[in-house]
Formats: sequence, C-alpha cells, structure tokens
Amino acid sequence: MKKAKDKSEKNHLREDAEKLLKKQFEKNDINLAEADLRKLLHEIEVHQIELELQNDELIAAREEAQLLKEKYIELYDFAPIGYFTLSKDGSILELNLRGAKLLGKNRLRLTKSDFSLFVSNNTRPTFFEMLEKVTIGNIRETCEVILETNGKESFYVLLSCTLTENEGRYLLTATDITKRKQISDALQESEERFKLAMKAANDGLFDWNLETNEIYYSPGWKKMIGYEDDELPNDFSVWEKTTDPEDVKLSLEQQQKLITRQIDRFVMEFKMKHKDGHWVDILSKAEAIFNDEGKAVRMVGTHTDITKRKVAEKELIFAKDKAEESDRLKSAFLANMSHEIRTPMNGILGFAGLLKEPKLTGEEKQKYISIIEKSGKRMLNIINDLVDISKVESGLMKLLISKTNINDQIQYIYAFFKQEVELKGLQIIFNKQLPVEHANITTDREKLFAILTNLVKNAIKYSDEGTIELGCEKKGDFLEFFVKDTGIGIPKDRQSAIFERFVQADIADKRAFQGAGLGLTITKAYVEMLGGSIWVQSVEGEGSEFYFTLPYHAVPETIESVMEISDDAESGRKKSLKVLVAEDDDTSELLLKVTINDFCKQIIFVHNGKDAVVACQENPDIDLVLMDIKMPIMSGYEAVKRIRKFNEKVIIIAQTAHGLKGDMEIAIAAGCNDYISKPISKPLLVSIINKYF
Ligand code: ADP
Repeated sequence: MKKAKDKSEKNHLREDAEKLLKKQFEKNDINLAEADLRKLLHEIEVHQIELELQNDELIAAREEAQLLKEKYIELYDFAPIGYFTLSKDGSILELNLRGAKLLGKNRLRLTKSDFSLFVSNNTRPTFFEMLEKVTIGNIRETCEVILETNGKESFYVLLSCTLTENEGRYLLTATDITKRKQISDALQESEERFKLAMKAANDGLFDWNLETNEIYYSPGWKKMIGYEDDELPNDFSVWEKTTDPEDVKLSLEQQQKLITRQIDRFVMEFKMKHKDGHWVDILSKAEAIFNDEGKAVRMVGTHTDITKRKVAEKELIFAKDKAEESDRLKSAFLANMSHEIRTPMNGILGFAGLLKEPKLTGEEKQKYISIIEKSGKRMLNIINDLVDISKVESGLMKLLISKTNINDQIQYIYAFFKQEVELKGLQIIFNKQLPVEHANITTDREKLFAILTNLVKNAIKYSDEGTIELGCEKKGDFLEFFVKDTGIGIPKDRQSAIFERFVQADIADKRAFQGAGLGLTITKAYVEMLGGSIWVQSVEGEGSEFYFTLPYHAVPETIESVMEISDDAESGRKKSLKVLVAEDDDTSELLLKVTINDFCKQIIFVHNGKDAVVACQENPDIDLVLMDIKMPIMSGYEAVKRIRKFNEKVIIIAQTAHGLKGDMEIAIAAGCNDYISKPISKPLLVSIINKYF
C-alpha cells in the first residue's frame, strides 16, 4: 500500500516535471536537432533518477520526523512532570496530561484557562512574583506553590519557568513535591517537637562536637544555672567557666577516659555557679560517639539538678551524726546518772540504816537526818530533770500562761537563794527591776521560775567567790533577763554545747558531777517554748553571763491590780487564814501543816474529796483550800467542781504531782485559782498565798 502510494507520487512528480519542461520549451521557442534532443532526453532521465532518489530520502526523513514527533508528543503528554505553555497574560495555551492531572481537569477544558486561578490564594503572590522576575530578567526562575484542584485535592509543586524566544510565552514545568514536603514537614515538626521537649525537659542536654569543639546546650541546661537560652554561647568554655575548678579538673580526666574508651560512661557530680551566685549541684551523665575509625567525634549527655537531693542527703547525714552523737551522749549520761543516783541513794540507805542504831546521840541523829534529807533532795532534782527533759523531748510539755509579775518572780528567786549564796561566801544582787507599769506580763510563771532557778543554781555551783547579779530590762518587744556570776567561766569552744542535752562543759570538774548536764537543756527548751532565746557570754576564769529573753505580753490594765501584792495585806493576813487541807497522805499532810502554820488561825484536815466538799459547806468562812488532786472516794477535781457550785469566792490551790503539768490546766479548768507542784516548796507556797491574800 505504501509502495503503491510512493509509485503514484513519483509518477505524479514526473508528469509535473515533463509539463514544466514543455512549458519552458514553448516559452523560449527552442528547436533542437535530433541528436541534441536525444542527449537532452538522456540528461533529463539521469536527472529524473537523481530527483527520484532524493525524493526517497526526503520521504524517509519525513517519516523519521513523524516518528520523532509522535515520540515527543508521547513524552510530553505522559511525562511525570506537568508542562504548560502560558500566554503572556497567563492563560494556558498548551499542557500535557500530567499538567492537566495537577489541575484536576480534562486537558481540553483547560486550554485558555487562567493558570493562576489554580494556584492557592496564599501561594499566588509567589507565583506572580516568579512570572515577573522571568519577564523582566528573561531568566529561569523557580518557586514552590500549592495547586488546588476544585478544592478536592491539592499538590505542593515546584514551578520552573522560562520565556520562549520569540513569542514571549511562558514555558512552565510543575513538579509534584507533595510527598517530599510532607516528609520534610513531618521532620520539621518532629524537630520542633524535639526542641519543645528539650525546652520542657527538666534535664539539661548537651551535644559536644569533639572535632569542632562546638557544643550545643539545651535551654534546660542553661536554665539550670539561671540563664535564658540566648544568654550563653554554644561554647565549651561556658561549662568550664561556670563549674568549680576542682570539679573541672576531675571531669576532664573522666572525659579523657571516656574518649579513650577506658570507661563506657561518664557519670560525675559537680558544682556549677548559678547566675545569681549560689552553687548548683549537678549530676552529669555522658557517652561518647565514635566514627568508623574508632575516633570519638561527639560526646552527648545530660545534666540533672540534684541540689535538693544533696541537701536532703546532707540533712540525713547530719541527722545520722546527731543520732550517733546523741547515742554517745546518752551512754555518757547513763554512766553519770548511775553515779548520780547511786551517791544520794547510798547516802539515804546508809544513814537510814545508821539511824536504827540505839545508842545515837541527838546530835548524831540530827546530822544523819540532814544527810538523808540532802540526798533525797538531790535525787528528787535529778528525777524532776529527767521527767522534764523527757516531756520536752516527747513534746508533751505544756505551757500554762498566766499573769506574772516579773519583779516579784526575781525578788522571790533572790530571797530564795540569798541564804545559800551567802553561806558559800558569795553575794547576790537584784540590780535591775522593771518599772512597775511594765512588770506584769502573761507568761508561764512556773517555767520562768524554773529558768531563773536553774541559772542561779549554776551560778552558785560554778562560782567560788564574788557576786551573782540578776535582773531584767525591757528591750523593745522583749524582756531581757540576766544572771551574771564571777565564777569559773566556760571555755569558748564549749559555750554553745552546754545547751545540748547531757553536755557538761568540763566533765573533769568535780562540780559537774553534781548535775546531769540537763539543767541548761531544760532551761533553753523552756525559754524557746515561751518565745524567747538564750545565750551566754563567758570568759574562762572570769565568770559567765547568761541572758534570755521573753516576749513582752502586757497584761490588760483592768486585771493588773489583782497581781499586785501589798505588803500591808501580807502582814495583815498573818495568822489570819482559815485553811482547809485535803490530803490523803499523812506525810504530805504533816509537811503542809508545818509549812502553812505560820499564817493560819485554823487548819481543817480532810482525807478525801467528799469530806472536802462537806467541810466547805459547813465552814463558809474558809479562806483557802489546799486540794490534793489524787484522793480516794472523790478526786480533787470533782470536789472543786462541787465546791464552786456554792462557793465561788474561796481560793482553791491544787496540789499536783510534779511533772504532770497537764494536771494544772485541768485543775484551773475545774475551778482552782492556782496550783502548786508536790513536793511543796514553802517559799513557793508562801508566794502563791501572798498573791491572793
Ligand atoms: P549541770 O547539771 O552539769 O550543771 P547544766 O546543763 O546546768 O548541767 O550545765 C551544763 C554545763 O555548763 C555544766 O556542766 C557546766 O560545765 C557549764 N555551766 C553552766 N552554768 C555555768 C556557769 N554559770 N559557770 C560556769 N559553767 C557553767
């Protein structure tokens, strides 16, 4: 078929040539001889053959071109990249199939459409910018835009654009980069998330490039030492400068070991200086990363702030040391204690035994009894101290706040110890009184008494000559008390320890053995319970000055008068009181009788609560009731409650067991005016009675 076509084409060419030739002959009116004609005919035939050959080549070439064209179209149409030819005004003149797919429409429908309409609103300006650059600079430009297909699907595409040489059309290629974009977006997101996580992490991270010496510190790393992310450069020197030099040295050694694979992991604690000057305890853990040749190229690790943990650890160690120290002291204390209790015990048992001897003179008896008394007192003191300290330590010690006249308290202490002091050849002075208007405060009177007693007792105990001075001054919101002596003094290095339980400044000193090292501990605990503080100033060999403060809680004026003791009243009341003593123990009863005899015109004795109530009913003129709390048949509390129902005026003083100070509050609540601990001290009882009469 093709051949037939070629043949007819050739014939047709020949006919055309013959016609042309004939025309030429006719036009030029040429007449040729036969020989010439033959020659010419030959020439023409040769030429004809040449032409036919050329024509074949042409046909082959044309076929080839056709093939190429088809191939090109195939390539163009099915290329994986979108091809567009745009007119100057941006409308689509030509496009391939991929291009049509990117725009989401049939190719035929897309010609003459405005390409920019398929570019998303937010990337359209980028697209126009690119066209402008291409137009002005006649260069190839690229940009990334989003193509939207009917709002259904969208593609991220990389556009590349040039101008055609003559017509000034735009040749545009569009490569779909959606997948790439998604991956890089995801990467970026994960990177951002990682950064965020690092920002949020409590731990600091570092990544040290050992080849460039560049180091990345995470924001958390910087924050740990008080810096914002942009305040510190990513420079190794930052760590070196902020870390304790000693620790830097040790760390560098460890790092070297890590790099040289002598260790697998770097774990160290070091101190870093915080921006505001304090030290931060850091726990650092790191590992090295090696390249194919086994060379360490990076070191990555974490920093954790362990300051709090360190503090807790220190506290634990301190507590452990304390506990050990306290154990040690307790054993020392027990050793002392056994000596301390055994001595008076031996005295009591020994001399009580001697008293049984039938041939004793009155004088001897008197001497033995006084030794027994002294030993008993000493033992009682120790037992009281022990009860007090265990109450303080177990937190059971209660406060009983009442109106207290400070001057009276000091005066009383002064009077109480005067004789003992003078017997030892010392002097005692009460040299600073509070002005009357400042003398009344509310505090725990009994504790104040115990504090002053302890200090004065020590002053006497640790002085051989000189003067003991005591007094009180108002300083701002506090009252400052002092007890000064000219005794043996306390070495500087022992001055704070003496307030600790069971500690004695000089255990070698004989005098120390007359105590258990508890007095100042109890004193300090009492002062602190009352809201004050205690301290000592002392020079060894010259003397000691003990100071303590109590908060100045003034008593409202209306009740101040109750507190004041009038000397006239005291003297006037001498031998004038009618007293009821409710006490079931004979010895205690006897002791009370001797104690109060001086100022009583009449004493009624009962042995249980019930009888006490009856006695009060029958004797409405009773001035004072000394009520034991623990009694058979009816307790003292119950008796007081009943008495109060018919007699509100009578002064009732509860006698409580020493060390059971919780009883005092119950006593006051039951209706007692005051309380006194057993064994009853005469001066204290007198001072209480003075207060009410
Ligand atoms: P102690 O029962 O041993 O007297 P304290 O707790 O009262 O116990 O006192 C503790 C130690 O403080 C005493 O052993 C003594 O060494 C020292 N001390 C206390 N008061 C004085 C003082 N006024 N002068 C010298 N040393 C004192």
